[in-house]
Amino acid sequence: MTDPSPILIWFRRDLRLSDHAALRAACDPGRPVIPVFIHDTLSEALRAAPKWRLGLGVGHLAQALAAKGSKLILRREGDALAALQTLVAQTGAGAVYWSRLYDPHSVARDTSVKQALRAQGVEARSFGGHLMFEPWRVQTKTQGFYKVYTPFWNTVKQMGVDAPRSAPQTITPPSQWPATHDLEGWNMGGAMNRGGVVVRPFVQLGEQAAQDRLAHFCKAIIPEYKELRDIPGRDGTSLLSENLSVGEISPHQCWHAGMRAMHEGKAGAETFLKELVWREFAYHLMHHTPHILTTAWRDGWEAFGWQTDADSAEVLAWKQGRTGIEFVDAAMRELYVTGRMHNRARMIVASYLTKHLMTDWRIGMAWFEDCLTDWDPASNAMGWQWTAGSGPDASPYFRVFNPDTQLDKFDKGRVYVDRWLAEGCRTPSPDALAFFDAVPRRWQLRADATYPDPIVPLDLGRKRALAAYAERGF
Ligand code: FAD
Repeated sequence: MTDPSPILIWFRRDLRLSDHAALRAACDPGRPVIPVFIHDTLSEALRAAPKWRLGLGVGHLAQALAAKGSKLILRREGDALAALQTLVAQTGAGAVYWSRLYDPHSVARDTSVKQALRAQGVEARSFGGHLMFEPWRVQTKTQGFYKVYTPFWNTVKQMGVDAPRSAPQTITPPSQWPATHDLEGWNMGGAMNRGGVVVRPFVQLGEQAAQDRLAHFCKAIIPEYKELRDIPGRDGTSLLSENLSVGEISPHQCWHAGMRAMHEGKAGAETFLKELVWREFAYHLMHHTPHILTTAWRDGWEAFGWQTDADSAEVLAWKQGRTGIEFVDAAMRELYVTGRMHNRARMIVASYLTKHLMTDWRIGMAWFEDCLTDWDPASNAMGWQWTAGSGPDASPYFRVFNPDTQLDKFDKGRVYVDRWLAEGCRTPSPDALAFFDAVPRRWQLRADATYPDPIVPLDLGRKRALAAYAERGF
């Protein structure tokens, strides 16, 4: 060991010990390792559910590190660089390692942190891990980036994915631990209000839970995944998005488990791999066209006459699951109670908001960002723009999902809507009733109220949207 000084591991959205390149690189030489989480302006700016979920994950990681004889040092400081510099001064650390993030705000922060630490003689290194394919490594034949999913898939499937690494055997502690803050005192779940208690049972918390779910999924669900993944009333998907979002599992671990299932002849495995690559594609797009997060990706769409009042009666009815359209309302309530929403349901509620209600996709995107425990900047923006028709590889703008037809097709036995809608039902399900415990009291919603009539008849909404597209020459 040439340099015996400690290494700081700066955890952010990589809350795991296995398959963690930065942690392994820090532990392998046997130098003391000081794990750190900094609650800075970027984590402070997270909206209700993602911030709460991150706080839960940080607490869980702290326990996992303690079980290894290590300790997660918590610091709250707006400026992450200042917090790291203080820790370097307090511990004599000679290096800071972290796993890369890709959204523009994190990139800007991390770039300046790297420069400043290096300027003061501290080794600053970032590692991969959040993605399988670094966005700048995947190129078209003409050295451009991909704007369409299928050629992206065809390219990356031949690239090979690094095999996951095991967790370090030992994490050498420093001779003295620096001071740490109190996670509870940060109140990262504050904005959840009374919803936190309702959503908590649906959280799949921590690395072990994610690994167990992956194993169960690959054994019991993947053979039928191709068909089941579209049926919101069935337990037919991996449910790993929340763990991927905070890095409690790596995409590499999911990929290799999927590959093993494929080699065992399990039918849905390739579809699962393709879904993992949709997540990579979202990051590829965010890296090359960061405006996807804020403005219409496709030319001409910024000027489209969206309805932009986020507080309109129609938007409120959508958020409250009171549009009178069963599939939409069931999905919005699933979101509120579980912090998740089935992918098919996400497409339907997004299509309904942006087409039947002609509402700006950013209003829906922001609501998802408030409510989703699996919130992911890249996948959320891509999903919303894809559905609205303004995004890359988008669903054709003239394709207006009919939620009632979708219900007949994907929820034939009404398992999903009966699970989530209480009104008019003699014995509502516990989940349907839980919605009324989770929502703000000021909404004044009651399970024994009458189920509303459609706020906009589906046929009228569809015709209105198509007329607006025609008027604007789309
Ligand atoms: P599975 O079906 O088991 O898929 C495995 C993994 O593949 C997922 O965990 C996810 O990481 C990835 N994946 C699957 N579908 C997609 C997709 N369409 N786009 C990108 N990655 C995908 N996903 C998020 O993780 N966070 C979001 O904030 C988010 N917002 C969305 C908003 C809209 C409007 C839409 C239409 C989709 C959004 N998605 C988002 C994508 C998708 O709905 C979820 O990833 C999926 O429902 C997660 O469930 P699962 O883990 O059981 O997925």
